[in-house]
Amino acid sequence: MAVIGIMSAMHEELAAVLARMPDEQRVTVAGRDFWVGHWQGHAVVAVLSRIGKVAAATTATVLLERFQVDTLVFTGVAGGMGSGVRVGDVVVANGFVQHDMDASPLFPRHEVPLYGRARFEADVNLSAQLAEAGQQVLAKAAQHLGAGTLADFQLDSPRVHQGLVISGDRFVATSTESQALRLALPDALAVEMEGAAVAQVCHDYAVPFAAVRTISDRADDAAHTDFNRFIREVASRYSLAILSQWLTNRRSD
Ligand code: SAH
Repeated sequence: MAVIGIMSAMHEELAAVLARMPDEQRVTVAGRDFWVGHWQGHAVVAVLSRIGKVAAATTATVLLERFQVDTLVFTGVAGGMGSGVRVGDVVVANGFVQHDMDASPLFPRHEVPLYGRARFEADVNLSAQLAEAGQQVLAKAAQHLGAGTLADFQLDSPRVHQGLVISGDRFVATSTESQALRLALPDALAVEMEGAAVAQVCHDYAVPFAAVRTISDRADDAAHTDFNRFIREVASRYSLAILSQWLTNRRSD
């Protein structure tokens, strides 16, 4: 049976997933708790990704080596970069770049040395499945979040976007920095701190990877506003609902 690895960036997201796993067993490796069990009949290993590229890469490597997952899905939040990418929207990555990788002039800016590439692709099928699940969930956003939450966060017809996600070891919380990133990587839809690292590890192991990120902020001077409340009331509910919908759809494929 295929084993699905689920990496959650936020405690609240992981807690919501674990609440759906009736039989999870904890296995601790490298100081991380991996939860092995089933969700909707699928064999699953769920884990907190930890924050930043190195921490997330280590978590991913253990999932692949020790737990032999053959599909890896990441959920978390991200800062919106593209002009139409608003708080409460969902971005499903189709590729990833490390925005803080720069070994120039030895290698072109953003290229990961010895890989001959800056961009690591998400798995096309897996991403399409997650985008479809995301659309199904967002079409009923009020049902998943409650009308009060939609109004509180001024979420209006949230959308799913697919495109480039950029990662780096910085929480981008100034307009100056996000403008510089936009200039350097104009295609980027969202910025976060783990995706490109996990994509690189999955590339090394040739395991399909996809990531879904709820936009929590616009990576600008207001980026920290209500962050924790947003995670609790919006992002962790979206993550749970999208993964659950995805597993339901997979069963009927
Ligand atoms: N308060 C949180 C810390 C969040 S760190 C906690 O205690 O767990 C930021 C997380 O959100 C990272 O996982 C990162 O991938 C994502 N993120 C959201 N908005 C971001 C932004 N504007 N820039 C970089 N990462 C962002």
